[in-house]
Amino acid sequence: MENELNNKDCRLYGSPYCAILNQKSCERCRICKLGAADQLKAAEDILHIAEALPEDGAEGIMNSASCALCRTRGREGAQPNEAVQFAQMDMGHLHPTAKVGDKLSGDYDRGTAMTVPVQLPVCESCRKKIGKRSYLPLALGCLIAIAGLALVSIEPVRAALTRYGRIIPFLVFLIFVFAGIIVECLVKRSLGRALDRTVNTRAKRISAIAPLIERGWFAIGEMNDGMPFIFTKKKLDSGILTGENQRELLNEIRSAGKAGIEALRRQGLEL
Ligand SMILES: [Zn+2]
Repeated sequence: MENELNNKDCRLYGSPYCAILNQKSCERCRICKLGAADQLKAAEDILHIAEALPEDGAEGIMNSASCALCRTRGREGAQPNEAVQFAQMDMGHLHPTAKVGDKLSGDYDRGTAMTVPVQLPVCESCRKKIGKRSYLPLALGCLIAIAGLALVSIEPVRAALTRYGRIIPFLVFLIFVFAGIIVECLVKRSLGRALDRTVNTRAKRISAIAPLIERGWFAIGEMNDGMPFIFTKKKLDSGILTGENQRELLNEIRSAGKAGIEALRRQGLEL
């Protein structure tokens, strides 16, 4: 295939900063479309990210053969299942230029946080359990409300209820809606508890990302009932830290340091 990373005007052209972004073509790369000054800033941010990451970036996590979400802790002899797909999540890190006093939070703030995608290999069972917890409670709640509506829509039932007052059919429907909401909450809570026993839904329990957390990275968007994973059959095919040889590229970026960015700047002046 023709090399589509062909924009020699880009400050990152041919550099490890470009390679770690793992873009298929300059056409699709956002950084390639920036002005020269912003491209240099982007390269600087890549250096900050490289310095904050474990040595092999996210490659070890991504290429692991076993499920990162199977909870084996406290279960003697339990082994995680074989991973067959990926749970995508984002992690952020306080930007080194953030002002002192800026607090780490679960939210992504462009001015203060750097973010990277983390692809966790996961098994089918964990994905199904998480999926079930997210749709089943609401589906049951809706079903009960719909059943109530169907019931009061039946003419003889409605006629019988109306005898006690014209508003009674509506009140009966409301009772079904409330029952639906209660059932939704109860089922959600009990599924959540069962899920927590066998699946690592919370970022702090996922041992694969522990090396990132130790270095000050935090999971973005974690909610009361766990991480908002997006499941994919395949790895992401482009984006920072989605490619191979991350250790080599990151080491190259780290050892070039600030001088590496300065070299990109000078190269631009010579053009
Ligand atoms: Zn699993």
